[in-house]
Amino acid sequence: MKKWVSMVGCSLLFLTWMLPVNADEGTALTRKPLYRANVRIDPIKKEVAGTVTITFWPKDPTRAYLHLYPNVFTEEHQGMLWEELLGNGPTLGSYTNKKLLVDGVAVVGKQTKDLNILEVPLEGQKGPRKIVMEFEMTLPRNDGRMSYDDQSIWLGNWLPVLAVYDKEGWHLDPYEPVGDPFYSENADYDVNVTLPKDYQLASTAPDRAAKQVSAGEREKTIQLCAENVRDFALVVMDASYQRTETKVGETVVRTWWRKTDDPATAAQIHEAAAESLAYFHHQLGAYPYSEFDVVRTGGAINGMEYPALVFLDGRHFFSGEETGIVTVVHETAHQWFYGLLGNNQVKEAWLDEGFTEYVTLSYLFQQDPLLGAERVRRRLEQGTSVQYYVAEELRPWQALSAFPNNQSYSDLVYSRPSSMLWLLQGAWGEERVHDVLKQYVEKYRYQVVTGKEWEAFLSEMAGENASAFLDYWLRVDMSKQEQAAAWLERQRLKHQKK
Ligand SMILES: [Zn+2]
Repeated sequence: MKKWVSMVGCSLLFLTWMLPVNADEGTALTRKPLYRANVRIDPIKKEVAGTVTITFWPKDPTRAYLHLYPNVFTEEHQGMLWEELLGNGPTLGSYTNKKLLVDGVAVVGKQTKDLNILEVPLEGQKGPRKIVMEFEMTLPRNDGRMSYDDQSIWLGNWLPVLAVYDKEGWHLDPYEPVGDPFYSENADYDVNVTLPKDYQLASTAPDRAAKQVSAGEREKTIQLCAENVRDFALVVMDASYQRTETKVGETVVRTWWRKTDDPATAAQIHEAAAESLAYFHHQLGAYPYSEFDVVRTGGAINGMEYPALVFLDGRHFFSGEETGIVTVVHETAHQWFYGLLGNNQVKEAWLDEGFTEYVTLSYLFQQDPLLGAERVRRRLEQGTSVQYYVAEELRPWQALSAFPNNQSYSDLVYSRPSSMLWLLQGAWGEERVHDVLKQYVEKYRYQVVTGKEWEAFLSEMAGENASAFLDYWLRVDMSKQEQAAAWLERQRLKHQKK
């Protein structure tokens, strides 16, 4: 039954694309891109090769841009932030795009000055376009989002992704070594992966319903389909991986961990993932995917969010370690803020990190008051001690490139906006704040939201303009301090009565 459902899902996806389409019709949801990929992964040689076909409606008729993030790791990068991201002595990977076609015609892509951006010329023709790209890569070895160790290969931001063109034009930002330098739109994915038979995989798609489309003597090909996701992550694991599963509503939460990990710690992480997913599902609106994978990777990325799948590095799985609980709850919350509700993480990282961290605090506070209170205390302390940042003209609402180090990024992008929302909760009460967040998620589900749109939404919900409140907290405009406090006090009085 499950298998049948998955096949229909994928074929329906395909059928929809076969229908004639009037170029002027359709909403953002019906005109989402479709990524179809066929890839072969060699876990011994650490090679990934394949073809990706992207069908999409261009907003700029003259050209498209693809993010080729793996290209960033074919060259050396200097500096403290790169060292913190990649670890000591990373080895470089290789990346080649062998063939590029637009609607079946070979074109020459233009490598821009940023390694991660490839310009693809489009001739001005209406309707959906189709880019086909063939690529080949050897994986870099480092502590980051796309690498490997002896037991696994973790692939984050590995497939070519269309750059976003919005009201501001093209977003072609370089890969920053701070924060999550990504901005992508909701899409569908249909990915065939060929790998040796004795390996397992977890991905953004519901893997339990994945269909084995062919099997040779040594290899198998798995068809993976994911709808309404803004990226597609994948982890290939050897036989040392085992899994723990729990059904949460309609979703199977699955934690993948290694035989060498501490079982009690893995169980604790799994429980936190399942319980927080249930909590956020009720507080923030329905989780739409049938699976949520938590995958233990190597490296030292701490935690990294992808649609329906998160990475947690191995340090969280040591005996007696409790850091995994907080990290997995935070990454789970990103399923809403980043996943369902997207944003430009390069320009407005506070918009996903701040909300994610606030709901993480809310969950921890009700689940484990002691741990939660301690976490809240630390966030409030960091989020309100900003004299230094005022002097340096650093603020939450600025692009990643403006953050000189990870401490300022953490204090301003995580602590300050989550402190702001925690104080709003003090004025409004948890129920009202969460109800407003639920409406916010519903309004922008599968879309991208901007800070300005949140400002308008909050003002509407508050019944008065919230810009002074947000300017003080997010732009660290100290001249608005009193106005912000007065706004919060008015909100407290207004909602106390009800
Ligand atoms: Zn985060």
